[in-house]
Amino acid sequence: MRAMRLVQVGKPLDQADIPIPEVGSSDVLIRVAAAGICHSDVHYQAGISKIDDLPLTLGHEIAGRVEEVGRDVTHLSASDRVCVHYLISCGSCEFCVRGLEQFCRSGQMIGKHRDGGYAEFIKVPGANAFPLPDEIPFEVGAIMMCSSATALHALKKARFKAGESLAIFGFGGLGFSALQLALAFDCGDVYVVEINPAKLASAANMGAIAIDARTADPVAQIKEATAGTGVHVALELIGSAKTMRQAVLCLGPLGRAALVGLTAESISIFPYTELINKEAEIIGVSDHLATELPMLIELARSGKLRFSPETLRVVDLDAAQINAALDALQDSIDHVRTVIVPSSDK
Ligand SMILES: [Zn+2]
Ligand SMILES: [Zn+2]
Repeated sequence: MRAMRLVQVGKPLDQADIPIPEVGSSDVLIRVAAAGICHSDVHYQAGISKIDDLPLTLGHEIAGRVEEVGRDVTHLSASDRVCVHYLISCGSCEFCVRGLEQFCRSGQMIGKHRDGGYAEFIKVPGANAFPLPDEIPFEVGAIMMCSSATALHALKKARFKAGESLAIFGFGGLGFSALQLALAFDCGDVYVVEINPAKLASAANMGAIAIDARTADPVAQIKEATAGTGVHVALELIGSAKTMRQAVLCLGPLGRAALVGLTAESISIFPYTELINKEAEIIGVSDHLATELPMLIELARSGKLRFSPETLRVVDLDAAQINAALDALQDSIDHVRTVIVPSSDK
């Protein structure tokens, strides 16, 4: 089968011809119908996130049709439409048995620790393949399993409830999904903090209150808009110490700041005035859980989570096209997501 593999860090992906994986008793073989090209893939290619064993087929955002089912997999049959949960866990360690598989002692990320979906076929444990309703296109089924799933996990970690106000710092893929999910949960006012005019306009179009961080301190703007109170929940999706601090400062009493963006910087908080006094909380968010995916899939099926066709760009399972898309992703400023849709005639 054709597969696009990272052979050497810093180099373009290579097209390789490798064997179709053999299915074990608990696995399914999926014929890939769509594989999202994610910012994480750019980080793997550049060596910012380290992959231990190369060469490796990239791709962790995957949807397709079941081609073959291991004998112990009972919830799927051949030709079923599925999307893939990218975290493979043992199912038996102290974390897995509590449904906290993102801390699994032997957890593996598809497309990082084992071959991913930039290929004609992928083998995954049956437990990682979720039925994909007909209403959800394969392209959406693929990309929603990464940033949308993490946006949902962030809102759940922050215990976001109907009627609550929300500040979203950063309106990339995560923010785009977080806003739609918050609206689906009957949120109160949502403030989107950005410096990119096109993203501010798109957030306003979707029903948020755009907070332009270039014109004035976003915390002051949010405080003013909330009559001095602040918001119930803030999501930091950028990964900068400055916006993390702002996410905490814009909270009202009992507010929760969920930090999702990654940074190696430290942040400073004045405990008494900025946290203790208002019983605010700072919550770390990492990945998402298999148990959250049925809700995510239902939100997409019912149209509450959407990716309009003009935000999706399709490329073939072709090294030149995929490498060009990875290069373009480095400095992308829009919401356009590129998805690999393998043509069947190669
Ligand atoms: Zn991703
Ligand atoms: Zn485990």
